Amino acid sequence: MRLHPTVNLSIVKFLGFEQIFKNSLTGLPIGGGKGGSDFDPKGKSDGEVMRFCQSFMTELQRHIGLDIDVPAGDIGVGCREIGFLYGQYRRLRGAERGILTGKGLSYGGSLARTEATGFGLLYYTKALLAANNETLDGKKIKVSGSGNVAIYAIQKATELGATVVTASDSNGFVYDPNGIDYKVIQQIKEVERGRIKDYADRVSTAEYHEGSVWDFDADYDIALPCATQNEIDADQADRVIKNGATVVASGANMPCTPAAVTAFSKANVLLGPAKAANAGGVAVSALEMSQNSERLSWTFEEVDNRLKDIMQNIFDESQAAAEEYGLGKNYLAGANIAGFNKVADAMLAQGVI
Ligand code: NDP
Repeated sequence: MRLHPTVNLSIVKFLGFEQIFKNSLTGLPIGGGKGGSDFDPKGKSDGEVMRFCQSFMTELQRHIGLDIDVPAGDIGVGCREIGFLYGQYRRLRGAERGILTGKGLSYGGSLARTEATGFGLLYYTKALLAANNETLDGKKIKVSGSGNVAIYAIQKATELGATVVTASDSNGFVYDPNGIDYKVIQQIKEVERGRIKDYADRVSTAEYHEGSVWDFDADYDIALPCATQNEIDADQADRVIKNGATVVASGANMPCTPAAVTAFSKANVLLGPAKAANAGGVAVSALEMSQNSERLSWTFEEVDNRLKDIMQNIFDESQAAAEEYGLGKNYLAGANIAGFNKVADAMLAQGVI
């Protein structure tokens, strides 16, 4: 579920369409959908956000269900919003833990759900690099965004030996060749609900610039767009290529315009598409539902290990599909084919209508 002023039917449709094939790729028993509102939580008080979430759930509760649709977080929906939504659901319908995922740990959430999309993105990127005889060690990475996906992508990239040199929001970005400290962003964004500009006030080696991080020249090997759709257009893709990046893996949904995808393909930049690279979030949402059903909480390591396996499988299946269809290293086509085949097989097996 997304809460952002740009939400409209067209955006929800593309996100829902992608989600079906992404969820298929996870190998877990979940279908796909998407929802949201053009309400903007930014700059609102906790009380205002709570009242919006309560009103929203007062209607939404009629349309969701344990085996119908189970919302999870996306842009503008984090643990705070999920908590308010779940509280209202309980008030109206009673406790049904699996009705929402991304819940707080004190009322049915899963360890590692907060980290899942960002960590999963790096596990996918690691698998893609390994298939090309490379590792993350010593790599320089440009990350966009400073929300849920970006923060934990930066953490895992750093833990795996890479240096992340940027982070951004819709106003501007910070650049630090010594490496971005995810803990500082976590404090600014998750605790203080501040702006990325505040980062440069706290870390003396970082510089702040207004505008898009994709219009800024820097030396780096890997681009991880983790903000929003269409954030990299054709000109910006040319700049990514000129800056020396050879891998682009999508933390955000559809961050590259079709023209940008074409530019990357022509330049033999390896593309990790969103439906594969950022599937870790929904995968752990499904694991949260499993834990809720069996009334157990798995350890962080258990969830994280399952996430690693799922991301490796997603890469392997995408690669195998690309090879089977003679598409070489076109992991984008491979993910589309692998995700689609499973959905198509299941639909045909159940009878054409
Ligand atoms: P958050 O709301 O936590 O963070 C979004 C980040 O992107 C913020 O830094 C925000 O800046 C920036 N951003 C949003 N819109 C724009 C814009 N128009 N231009 C530039 N920057 C922008 O969202 P998430 O981190 O959860 O989601 C980021 C992306 O990852 C989305 O595409 C989402 O669909 C995708 N995704 C998320 C998953 C999840 O589990 N959360 C799972 C799979 C995919 P600002 O604060 O200024 O708006």
